[in-house]
Amino acid sequence: MLVLSHILGFPRIGLRRELKQALEKYWSRKINKSELFSVGRELRIRHWRQQRDSGIDFVSVGDFAWYDHVLNTSLMLDNIPDRFRVNHSGHERKRNSSNCVDVDTLFHVARGATVNISEKSIIASEMKKWFNTNYHYIVPEFIYGQTFRLAWMQLFDEVDEALSLGHKVKVILLGPMSYLWLGKMRNNTSHNTSHSRLSLLPELLLIYRQILKMLSEKGVIWVQIDEPILVLELSERWCEAFFDAYRAMHGFTKLLLTTYFGSIHHHMNFISNLLVDGLHVDLVSGNDDLNVLHAGLPEDWVLSVGVINGRNIWRANLSFWCNRLFPFLGKRVIWVGSSCSLLHVPVDLDAEILLDSSLKKKFAFAIQKCNELRGLCNILNNAVVSNDLCTDNIVSENRLNINLATAVKKEHKKHVDEQINSDYLSRSNYTYRMQCQRSRFNLPLCPVTTIGSFPQTAKIRSARLNFRIGNLDQESYDIIMKQYIKDIILAQEELGLDVFVHGEPERNDMVEYFGEHLNGFLLTHNGWIQSYGSRCVKPPIIFDDVTRSGPITVKWITYAQSLTNKPVKGILTGPVTILCWSFPREDVTQEVLVSQIASAIRDEVCDLEKCGIGIIQIDEPALREGLPLKKSCWKNYLAWAVRSFKFITSVVSDDVQVHTHMCYAEFDDIIDSIVAMDVDVLSIESSRMSVKSLEILKKYRYNAIGPGVYDIHSPNVPSKEVILNRLEELIEYIEITRLWVNPDCGLKTRSWIEIKQSLFNIVGAVREFRVKNQ
Ligand code: GLN
Ligand code: ZN
Repeated sequence: MLVLSHILGFPRIGLRRELKQALEKYWSRKINKSELFSVGRELRIRHWRQQRDSGIDFVSVGDFAWYDHVLNTSLMLDNIPDRFRVNHSGHERKRNSSNCVDVDTLFHVARGATVNISEKSIIASEMKKWFNTNYHYIVPEFIYGQTFRLAWMQLFDEVDEALSLGHKVKVILLGPMSYLWLGKMRNNTSHNTSHSRLSLLPELLLIYRQILKMLSEKGVIWVQIDEPILVLELSERWCEAFFDAYRAMHGFTKLLLTTYFGSIHHHMNFISNLLVDGLHVDLVSGNDDLNVLHAGLPEDWVLSVGVINGRNIWRANLSFWCNRLFPFLGKRVIWVGSSCSLLHVPVDLDAEILLDSSLKKKFAFAIQKCNELRGLCNILNNAVVSNDLCTDNIVSENRLNINLATAVKKEHKKHVDEQINSDYLSRSNYTYRMQCQRSRFNLPLCPVTTIGSFPQTAKIRSARLNFRIGNLDQESYDIIMKQYIKDIILAQEELGLDVFVHGEPERNDMVEYFGEHLNGFLLTHNGWIQSYGSRCVKPPIIFDDVTRSGPITVKWITYAQSLTNKPVKGILTGPVTILCWSFPREDVTQEVLVSQIASAIRDEVCDLEKCGIGIIQIDEPALREGLPLKKSCWKNYLAWAVRSFKFITSVVSDDVQVHTHMCYAEFDDIIDSIVAMDVDVLSIESSRMSVKSLEILKKYRYNAIGPGVYDIHSPNVPSKEVILNRLEELIEYIEITRLWVNPDCGLKTRSWIEIKQSLFNIVGAVREFRVKNQ
């Protein structure tokens, strides 16, 4: 009974973000479909070869996606919302018609579309965070009583591709239960319960059976069927439905029921009765007991243990895992794997040419993680043969992980500790604050603002790069940045916005930028991970205590303010988001890290206020994402997350207006905590949502709120009429005096032409709206 190794998925974007470049070229019509396809094929071939060369036992097929793997599944199942079945001349195609969906359909669902003839925009499907990660998936939309059909053959083509290259293939498939769970019922709120989605299961299973049958006919033996929802606390109905689902899918290929992002012990009883051939558990995020797993699972099942962290970049402690696994060797079939897909880590550490080699030894990216798995597997298999575990070779390597802390500047650390341990007073109540702010800013009804970033130009990017590597001096760098800021201020004057921003030209990314300027962080050179579609981020690494040496953003924001009489909003990233979008050290708790970062951001807020900045926005788009997956752990997390936020804002005077911004997550669950943060203005993304889903805001009467009216992930430009309609709808839910108007999120991802037109339409709509409602 030899141990086998596998990963739950490889990063798809490419070492040099080749997929991103190809997608963006395709969208701007610089390359054609066959050129796009050949980039996809090359990436798959390369990634399979890298997996095989590393010596792991399977290559994973089915982890590639043009935009998102959940959307791939929707396409495969022909679950395309009816509004995208309109062809370009405006005629509706019917569901289940013989028309095949193609990659353009996929991009329309993800990014929205325009019907050529009428110029009418079709709203894209919603995008939400994939469990507690910063990866965004496209939310499947369902309608009551719908059927499915096998409509998109990409998976089968990829399987053929991999088999023809002689690989030993394991196919990855998103399981039907998780697929249903992740989707939403469209348009019919009375049907919009999780139970109603279950009513679609029998129809869905017909197609899953067909898929599995076809895979088995191709000779596929193992399918990794992903059911990450098993780590959640599911209702009895959902647990029961798992039986039906896995009974229906039994008998074609072998199924490895795959869970990740947490423990599954709360569902062990029913999981062990499902008709599958093995179970994968994430032993890094979860704390399942191997003895309990071994005792509770049928003895002929494979137990796949996720021991190499797919969410962080530190090397694994291989000797620890060897010792833990040794007692189970020979007792059942064991596979060792990554804890989850490697989608969440960068591709190759060897591309980090600027990282100090002594530091490099502490890290492992996707390829190195495959090597770790192979190494682990070898040691375990030697132990099987010799009945003795020898970890001599790896122990010394792992010692490098210990004693990470470098000499921290003591006075910074002392300041942080003092701040964290001191009490703070909440701000005055909102009514009083609002009066102070009203007399300070005298803003019009429904103020129009943006979320912070504006499109980055090639000039800005190269200035940043050259400055960083020493090819541009401070003075020349400042001139370029200031010129950009000037242009942005001027553009906002011309467009007639009410609260300005400086445009964030100095930031490559809202988290990496703060990582670059705070102590305790390390930046990578090429550590890209996919965030959504073609967009990638480069999370910084937190390797030490976080402290701040001096002001970070003050220079740019005060410069912007000096150019205009309109208030300029100082934009900072909140501590939870900085933590969630970094690769954190693992020797202290998240709570400690967040409080250290909060202390730094609080000092920045103080400095901004001292320099006359009257509106400060602290972005916390990841607040929901950091929420533990198990409800039982929510309270504790929310308590310290809210505390860290209020700890920051407690320092400002009542006439300073505090904003926060959140996006792309399900906020209903944590609305109490958002209310408890007690910011003066909250902006959220909402333009892909039906206005009904904002019902909750009616109940909560939030201090003031700006639900996004412009979908910044779509090339569509909203017309004045569309915005006016939306505003009319919104005031059914939000008192007009509390309403702000803004895009869904930062404008960095869009072109200037689109933005100018969109903001022009927004301001035009708001002006008419004010006249009507004043
Ligand atoms: N201030 C950031 C921006 O405008 C916010 C981005 C975000 O929420 N992800 O880009
Ligand atoms: Zn946002």
